Amino acid sequence: MTSAHDRLEAENTQALQRLADLTHDFDAMVAASRDTNADDEHDPEGATIAFERSQIEALVRQTERQLQEVAGARKRLDAGTYGTCVVCGSPIGDARLEARPAAEVCIRCAASSRLARR
Ligand SMILES: [Zn+2]
Repeated sequence: MTSAHDRLEAENTQALQRLADLTHDFDAMVAASRDTNADDEHDPEGATIAFERSQIEALVRQTERQLQEVAGARKRLDAGTYGTCVVCGSPIGDARLEARPAAEVCIRCAASSRLARR
């Protein structure tokens, strides 16, 4: 049985590794686009590179957000409020915490905030 602390630790390590991989991919792509003459914006190759770059940037932002969530969850673990929804104060539930150790809201609040964002 894994403790919340260990799960958060694992999640943090994975996210940092992913961020390192993405940064590496990004650097490699920038270097590659410098080699191929990507100055021409009408070059279809250039458009593909721009698309891939925006995909990687989106993944980087997502991973950074995940790291922030993990940091927040660690703080709540220290404060003894881990596993409690920050919105309504209900227990988040073991199954959800198992799947998303850094979850800060219960499934009901997560669902309603997704609806609110539409
Ligand atoms: Zn809630």
